[in-house]
Amino acid sequence: MNNELRDSGIDIMGYIPWGTHIAQLCDSPIEYCKVLIPFIRQGINNNEFCVWIYSEGKSGEEIKRTVHKHFKDIDSYIGSGRLKLFSHTEWYLKDNSFKEIRVTKQWKDLARYALDNGFDGLRAIADTSWINDRYRRSFLHYEQKISSIISGSPFIAMCQYSTSIVNIFEVAELLKSHSHVLTMHGRKLKIIENVDLLIKDKQLEESKKRYWESQKLLNEAREYDRIKTEFLANISHELRTPLNVILSSTQMLKLNRDRACQDKNNKYVDYIHQNCYRLLRLVNNLIDITKIDSDFYEIRLQNYDIVKLIEGITMSVVEYAKNKGIKVFFNTNAEEKTIACDPDQVERIILNLLSNAIKFTPNDGSIWVDISDCRNNIKITVRDTGIGIPRDKQKAIFQRFQQVDKSLRKQHEGSGIGLSLVKALVEKHGGKISLKSGPGCGSEFTVTLPCRVLPEKVNLANRQFKNIMHNHVERINIEFSDIYF
Ligand code: ADP
Repeated sequence: MNNELRDSGIDIMGYIPWGTHIAQLCDSPIEYCKVLIPFIRQGINNNEFCVWIYSEGKSGEEIKRTVHKHFKDIDSYIGSGRLKLFSHTEWYLKDNSFKEIRVTKQWKDLARYALDNGFDGLRAIADTSWINDRYRRSFLHYEQKISSIISGSPFIAMCQYSTSIVNIFEVAELLKSHSHVLTMHGRKLKIIENVDLLIKDKQLEESKKRYWESQKLLNEAREYDRIKTEFLANISHELRTPLNVILSSTQMLKLNRDRACQDKNNKYVDYIHQNCYRLLRLVNNLIDITKIDSDFYEIRLQNYDIVKLIEGITMSVVEYAKNKGIKVFFNTNAEEKTIACDPDQVERIILNLLSNAIKFTPNDGSIWVDISDCRNNIKITVRDTGIGIPRDKQKAIFQRFQQVDKSLRKQHEGSGIGLSLVKALVEKHGGKISLKSGPGCGSEFTVTLPCRVLPEKVNLANRQFKNIMHNHVERINIEFSDIYF
């Protein structure tokens, strides 16, 4: 009797013997219904007693609704006693617990009932979308056990698993106890009789995915390593150059100690001075970027007239730029504007942009610093007529240690920290920085800061601790230390 073939109702399966235990892996209610409805219909046509265990959870309710929509006469089969519905709580989780022995006994009773009432056997379909972490292990054990009960009796069972709640590795063991697995491939139903093959297939797919992901990570790590190595080489050079200048200048001073060559000696002292600034800038930048990275960097906000501040900074570099044959212009659409900012850091931002503008603009060029008050925010633009920056490098220059192709810019030294520090400082103010540029078309950096003010009490408190450094000249000496005329 057990080898008697039954029409499954599912085209791709055709006839199956009694004792078949099938699993369906599916994701949407429509996919569930594609199998559930013809499977039950055929069971009824075959004179089998049919049972449908539905889930009461959210997805279960959705399935139930969809079934009713596409299986309009379902109630007549229920009414005539050929189909019976149980909810998962009454079938599997009676009294709030899953007991393997109880559920197994229920199946046996139902199979007996089917035979005693003139049916050929029992056909069951169970939506298992209620299974969660709590029941997964015990359900796995139960599925293995039930398989042996099914295989020796006039019983056909189909378990429907939602692929969104069980991942393939967890479900692998579950699937092993089923003789057939149905899955959706695109819009087509596919049958897999060799479950091991399915598992291997899925595992291969997963490990391929992981392989590509790890390759990506490896490439990223390599790229970061490359940038770091380049940075170290760069930074060593940046440290050694001023040190060499200082060393040779002091040697010259020593040689000239007893000679009367004041002019020459003054020149050596100037070299030493400038290169000390250069070292100081590099070390300052390194310390600050490390602080920002580890979130130890604090800005001290206070209400400050940003227009006055920017104008002061711009004016203080006019002479410097003039030495290089570059004109500097300042423009504003607001006489004054008080916002909460850290004046020292704003000064650093603007000096950095100005020093780059001077560095990368040839003689006879111009630089404009424009302020425009846009009510909710204030825009500060530093524009130059310099060599410009290629489009494909514009994102990278804001990243740590990045410089545009060195071969083209060999005459300019630099660590590639400046703009990443500028960006971080602007962001610390709640602002952003953008760039418009092209090779040979000059560069335009725009810093946008939000127009917020501190309540007077907080403002006064911040001021007490603040030692605003008004010495622009000293700051310029530091920030402009790697520009040589
Ligand atoms: P560095 O300390 O090396 O100057 P930055 O982070 O300040 O580093 O700048 C990164 C790179 O961006 C520079 O090396 C230069 O190639 C490019 N750059 C920055 N500002 C300008 C500008 N105004 N004009 C042309 N190139 C610029």
